[in-house]
Amino acid sequence: MSKTEVTLDKLSSLAKRRGFIYQGSEVYGGLSGTWDYGPLGLKLKKNIENLWWRTFVDERHDMYGVDAAILMNQKVWQASGHMETFTDPLVECGNCKARFREDHLNSEVCPVCGKADSMGESRQFNMMFETTIGPVNPRTTFVEKSKSSSGEVEQKISFKELPTSLVYLRPETAQGIFTNYKNVVDSFYPDLPFGIAQIGKAFRNEISPRDFVFRSREFNQMEIEYFIREDNWEAEFATWQSDIKDFLIKQLGLDSDKLHEEDVVGDELAHYSKKTIDFNFDFPHGSDELLGLAYRTNFDLKNIQDNSGKSMEYRVKGSDDSFIPHVIEPSFGLERALMAVLTSAYREDEVEGKTRTYLALPEHLAPIRYAVSPLLKNKPELVDKAREVYKLLHDKHPGRVMWDDSGNIGKRYRRQDEIGTPECVVIDFETIEDDGKVTVRNRDTTRQKRTLPEKLD
Ligand code: ATP
Repeated sequence: MSKTEVTLDKLSSLAKRRGFIYQGSEVYGGLSGTWDYGPLGLKLKKNIENLWWRTFVDERHDMYGVDAAILMNQKVWQASGHMETFTDPLVECGNCKARFREDHLNSEVCPVCGKADSMGESRQFNMMFETTIGPVNPRTTFVEKSKSSSGEVEQKISFKELPTSLVYLRPETAQGIFTNYKNVVDSFYPDLPFGIAQIGKAFRNEISPRDFVFRSREFNQMEIEYFIREDNWEAEFATWQSDIKDFLIKQLGLDSDKLHEEDVVGDELAHYSKKTIDFNFDFPHGSDELLGLAYRTNFDLKNIQDNSGKSMEYRVKGSDDSFIPHVIEPSFGLERALMAVLTSAYREDEVEGKTRTYLALPEHLAPIRYAVSPLLKNKPELVDKAREVYKLLHDKHPGRVMWDDSGNIGKRYRRQDEIGTPECVVIDFETIEDDGKVTVRNRDTTRQKRTLPEKLD
């Protein structure tokens, strides 16, 4: 079976058609940079997320999980440097007023109106979303009720000036880990090295969200802060680098030819990092960052200690040796991982003279493990037996078995191919009249075999 060049259009239209990913708020014309996950996209996302958690947290003995609040005290972002430095360079076209991230423009010509040399001065734009906590938003319209002689009257008071209490939607999950480091140490007193992991939403007011879910304004991160002794950072970094590569290729099934590790140098290196490797992937729109692995020194814990006045030191058990641990940070974006999985799995080939599209997803990631069909849906004896088989498989794979009896069998296969279902199980007359065996049709080879349903994994 040959692999196919996959474009963003092909990927996003399959994702929409088959119930993986829809544009956010689509019914009202959409909201740029937001995406809604349909039944199959949600399953795929959860499968990736659960696999990540199992591999990097549950199967290890040195990891702890946390789930911190999205809204955090604004001091967190002052101390971390995000208030000052979490910015992208913004330029505006003097002609059509469209705004762009300066480093994403690759010519002097405005991509919207086509005018040359029309970009104004570059300004630094902070990407954190602001909101206020408590009923203290100066923009709130308050409604007050007062009694008049003729009864109760509603009076609207707009733009009441009240003190603001500014908070930010977190732009990364990492700070929710750092701010809980001391809590975890006090509760569990783990030996060093140990890690704290978190999966959750992050928000960035990207200047120009684009490339399907690749650059969104609301997305999920899967992050780990791995606390180590400073003198050991190179060895720890190398181990993480190789564990991540294994995960991407062996567990997520990414095409290894499309994966590139790149040393981040110079201005590109984040202010907190002494070494960063970006794992880039050849997405349909080009090679771009899938995830980052950074040696963040003790920058964050030291800042927290300096700004909170609370000690972040770790004391080695049974000794007076204490210090602020250093940190290795693997930082995955869940949506980018999902997009890389879809890109690697997308295939087109020819079956019976027609182009067929299918997703060659690894079996453990496929949203649906088996589709079960009666050959004909108007034959009660076939339907009854198929229901029995459906139940048997559903008990083994809760939520991952689909009942599919619409259209003819060829159409059902095509539909299941497109959503990456590894095997379709069909109950026909031979099943009920002869040997009890069902037809099992393989997605990748399209070959069929007959087997007893009890023998299916
Ligand atoms: P980029 O350079 O692409 O903007 P970044 O270097 O700012 O990304 P990090 O701050 O290192 O990204 O965030 C860690 C991970 O979070 C990224 O590798 C990516 O997987 C994910 N991520 C970051 N921004 C976005 C976004 N806007 N949409 C989806 N995922 C994102």
